Amino acid sequence: MTKNGIKELADRLLELDRPVPRYTSYPPANHFVAIEPRVFINALKNAGNPLSIYVHIPFCKRKCTYCGCFSMVPPGQNPVGQYIHDLASDMENISRELQGHHEVAQIQFGGGTPNFLTAGQLSKCMNHLKENFRILEDAEIGVELDPTFLEQSQVDTLKKTGFNRVSLGVQDLDQEVQRLIGRGQSREKTVNAFNMCQNAGFDSIHIDLVYGLPGQSVESLQLTLQEVIDMGPDRLSLFGFAYLPGLRPNQAKIPCDKVPGSRTRAELYLTATDQLTRAGYVRIGMDHFAKRDDELAQALEQGRLHRNFQGYTSRLAPDLLGFGVSAISDIAGAYFQNTKSLEEYSSRTGSGVPAVLRGFVLSEEDKIRRQVIESIMCNKRISFKEIEKCCLSSDSFNKHFEESLEKLSSLAGQGLIELNRDSIEVKLWAWPLVRLVAAAFDEYLEPGAVYSRVI
Ligand code: SF4
Repeated sequence: MTKNGIKELADRLLELDRPVPRYTSYPPANHFVAIEPRVFINALKNAGNPLSIYVHIPFCKRKCTYCGCFSMVPPGQNPVGQYIHDLASDMENISRELQGHHEVAQIQFGGGTPNFLTAGQLSKCMNHLKENFRILEDAEIGVELDPTFLEQSQVDTLKKTGFNRVSLGVQDLDQEVQRLIGRGQSREKTVNAFNMCQNAGFDSIHIDLVYGLPGQSVESLQLTLQEVIDMGPDRLSLFGFAYLPGLRPNQAKIPCDKVPGSRTRAELYLTATDQLTRAGYVRIGMDHFAKRDDELAQALEQGRLHRNFQGYTSRLAPDLLGFGVSAISDIAGAYFQNTKSLEEYSSRTGSGVPAVLRGFVLSEEDKIRRQVIESIMCNKRISFKEIEKCCLSSDSFNKHFEESLEKLSSLAGQGLIELNRDSIEVKLWAWPLVRLVAAAFDEYLEPGAVYSRVI
């Protein structure tokens, strides 16, 4: 795309840019309410098989200024030993409820910084999982790694323990951006970490990048992307920086005049997607990219792509168990979020009580809308027949979603979507705006609520 083409497209996108949820869940997590542990225990009786598992390691060596994750620099005495013990109790309690009937197709360790733990400690957590769940031989087992303090011996131990996918937090290689986001991650560290993982022979290496960071310019991001493309990761994510200093006190440390405005954000996003697709990466959903022969790209082509709290996935293991503080489970049509307090997590799991505090039990209508939203977020298309077949027993799509279709007619008028008799398709130029289409099906959308902007 030419520079002028990018500017024109940015103008078009900015006219429609507004804050809406990210739709990593429907309804979004701001609608979660207090929930009793017994509701979770009942849901476990109807859990799908196989399962996905997420383990949250909340600890970090520093709090980056841009961070929006639930993470902490451990106060006082090192809490890791106790935390691993609590994770083990949580896994044991839940496995007991599931009575060993379930297999596990996908495991992800995220954070925080999972490699805040030594490789030995991470292996210990994996072994607790192996003792309590039947992990499929071809399960995807991934871990997020911070390159700033990664060592070859750690990488080798992780590989031996059974981890087969790694995700490296990079965000940007530009050193001024690194300074402003409080990470101080050198290029050398990133390249070394990538090489270590490549030498260890993981099935897949993923790199996390962020656009819209303080100090970023179109030119600096292009340089970062070229270096990243030269490294050759299998997958990439390119999330938009959600600058919400009122909600996230760590972001108040960022000089606001260094945060790119919406025009630059749009140009950053468009330049990056153009550069990545020209380099041969396939765009997955809004913010992920994969090599053409990667399973994710193939899942997209075959209509097998799904979305969960960790992003896009090709595995059909939609029910997700979350272990650790703040982790979210998605089981049998309900969401459950664990406490964010280390002390409460410890006391609950130690006494055999699930650590869930908040959540949301989806109604039948919520489940239908969740399916529609997942379909548009993954495939940028909704087939009315497919939705009728899977979710609407007697109603037609047109009748059931009359109101949503009415809202969408204005987006069709603006050329963003094609509204056909039996499908909705998001036009290629408007892919970055796909969340606006999802929002038309969202019955919980609050006009005054704080969401990140689409671009
Ligand atoms: S960005 Fe990552 S390393 Fe930095 S504070 Fe957040 S979770 Fe920790």
